[in-house]
Amino acid sequence: MKLTQLFKEKTETLSFEVFPPKDGKNYDSVKSATEEIAKLNPHYMSVTYGAGGGTGEYTVEISRNLQENFGVISLAHLTCVNSKREVVWKRLRQLREAGIENILALRGDLLPDAADPSEWDYHYASELVSEIREFGGFCIGGACYPEGHVESEHSKDDIRHLKEKVDAGCQFLTTQMFFDNNILYNFLYRIREAGITVPVVAGIMPVTGANQIKRICQLSGTYLPQRFKAIVDRFGSEPAAMKQAGIAYATEQIIDLLANGVNHIHIYSMNKPEVAEQVQKNLSEIIR
Ligand code: FAD
Repeated sequence: MKLTQLFKEKTETLSFEVFPPKDGKNYDSVKSATEEIAKLNPHYMSVTYGAGGGTGEYTVEISRNLQENFGVISLAHLTCVNSKREVVWKRLRQLREAGIENILALRGDLLPDAADPSEWDYHYASELVSEIREFGGFCIGGACYPEGHVESEHSKDDIRHLKEKVDAGCQFLTTQMFFDNNILYNFLYRIREAGITVPVVAGIMPVTGANQIKRICQLSGTYLPQRFKAIVDRFGSEPAAMKQAGIAYATEQIIDLLANGVNHIHIYSMNKPEVAEQVQKNLSEIIR
């Protein structure tokens, strides 16, 4: 099923994200973690695409497995900036052949040793969106950044480029993680004002370790509210307590989002079935 259809049929959705293995060595353990999450029967699961594209075949394979053998709708991520056009088209053919109907079209992060930009086949996700549309048959999603993308100096420009991506054929958006819902509400107001009307899925990261949050903030510059910092300060050195507190914080965030009309929630579950399960349990009477 295409996600645009799912969003029409279900008032609220809860989905989980998993990532493929970096190499063949841990393929089985990663596959089994994704299967444990699939057994929770979420509305859909997304499978990321390794930076640089080297593990793209695993993304296809894991997406296929979840859909074919567990009956969970798959959303396969696909990046373009570090790929050649023929690789992207090959991947599109593989995804079609695997029965995948949904793609999250991304630019990907720029690799430090990337070739001269004039030699790149793609510069922005909107170019990939246009090509997937030309290929035909897929429901296409894209990423958005409530706090602005790190490379973007002004959020006004970021929103203008987001509108171009949607106009190119992007049918829904998934947000980067955020820890303060007011940032999302403000962003939604601004993108709606800019004429972006597609469904926006809120990406929520249950933080289960103090190191994890330090890494995330260094990479993405995500704002941490004082309330959240206090939790990390107090429980960061006690792994089990930090995990429980991180899941509780994410749950509270989700309940507030739902209470304010943000109905589609995507959990960055990081291949951790126990985290996905606990979040789902906490919301069992809220999202069905
Ligand atoms: P774009 O939409 O192309 O935007 C990138 C930057 O370019 C922005 O600053 C934008 O404002 C600017 N821009 C866009 N168009 C123009 C233009 N015409 N002129 C000038 N500037 C422009 N990475 C992976 O490697 N694999 C994954 O699976 C993956 N999954 C992700 C899932 C989500 C939900 C999110 C939020 C991110 C994900 N990422 C993933 C990270 C993503 O690849 C990076 O954030 C990347 O830097 C930007 O990708 P994008 O698709 O948002 O790019």
